[in-house]
Amino acid sequence: MRDDQYMRMAVHLAEQASGQTSPNPMVGAVVVKDGQIVGMGAHLKAGEPHAEVHAIKMAGEKARNATIYVTLEPCSHYGRTPPCAELLINAGIKRCVVAAVDPNPLVAGNGIRIMEDSGIEVSLGVLEQEAKKLNKIFFHYVKTNRPFVTLKAASSLDGKTATKTGDSKWITGEEARIDVHHYREQHDAILVGVQTVLMDDPSLTCRLESPKKQPIRIILDSYLKTPENSKILNDQAAETWIFTTKAAGKEKSAKIREKGVRVIESDEETIRIPNILKFLGEQGISSVFVEGGSTVHSSFLAAKAFNEVVFYFAPKLIGGKDAPTIISGQGFQSMKEVPNLTIKSVSQIGEDIKIIAVPKE
Ligand code: NDP
Ligand code: ZN
Repeated sequence: MRDDQYMRMAVHLAEQASGQTSPNPMVGAVVVKDGQIVGMGAHLKAGEPHAEVHAIKMAGEKARNATIYVTLEPCSHYGRTPPCAELLINAGIKRCVVAAVDPNPLVAGNGIRIMEDSGIEVSLGVLEQEAKKLNKIFFHYVKTNRPFVTLKAASSLDGKTATKTGDSKWITGEEARIDVHHYREQHDAILVGVQTVLMDDPSLTCRLESPKKQPIRIILDSYLKTPENSKILNDQAAETWIFTTKAAGKEKSAKIREKGVRVIESDEETIRIPNILKFLGEQGISSVFVEGGSTVHSSFLAAKAFNEVVFYFAPKLIGGKDAPTIISGQGFQSMKEVPNLTIKSVSQIGEDIKIIAVPKE
């Protein structure tokens, strides 16, 4: 088999752990000796062994003079586990094929250098694009220390997210709703505005059959209007954080904190998106799934603070100038200011259409 075929296996191994490695990347490794696969591994969870450790352990003595395929540059630093570059050297690996350089400044080429200095032949860039796509959240987070932001909305074909009376139950079909739960599982946090909580009393949990984790639920609520009996404050189904302002008052925040909810008070009069993202980054949150409503989406748009847009369109026409659209707020004044996006995919999901777009570089 060719290098790219073994690397594809390593990529497949890596992505099996999707949704469970954060804030670490998904990594896969395959060890090949004389045309035979002698070891395989994936990184399963932060704090647990890296992919290379599992693969080398499986290969045992056969690792000597073997080739290892890794989706991410082997690490060179002492983190929670000793450096994998040294492990490969000690195991007698002859050649190391790497898909992408680790953007982590602690590694960033050092792993490759250490291996080359000890005589391992390193080939870089095999399936690099696939590997980067697989870990787009990790790459963004490590480079910026801000979470990767995905804006999600479900609307009718004419872009309405509810009727003018606010009825928004089940615009899209079952398949699209299941798809949303996969996104929830892959993100560290889900974020909504307080109006959505007031209108829908959502539980904002991942309801797949056996979710790998429950993302943290985040509400933007300047005056702590989130009802005391709302599901999100009482069901204990996942962690809940509320961003608020001083205007909410000490009494209300004390009451909410008693329920085990984290209340984060802004130093400013309003809750500013860049501040939230900075705070979340510092807390180790590497991705946020923003589910609306339209006011919250407009804040993220105004701040140009998003990395991907996932919109579902149902074959329905709601109409009405007073029915809410996907994004409200002020909008931009001129086309010059409008961010241009690149459509990454258009697909049909059940009866609905799903569009993924990213800001143009
Ligand atoms: P949002 O849910 O977007 O909540 C907006 C409120 O959040 C603001 O009024 C504000 O209230 C608070 N907030 C605090 N800080 C910010 C900030 N920086 N940026 C934005 N908001 C902030 O309200 P909408 O009325 O726009 O949307 C709610 C409706 O949308 C509901 O009817 C819901 O059913 C529907 N919906 C539909 C979805 C769909 O995909 N079809 C998804 C989600 C919602 P305060 O000043 O009090 O803090
Ligand atoms: Zn490692």
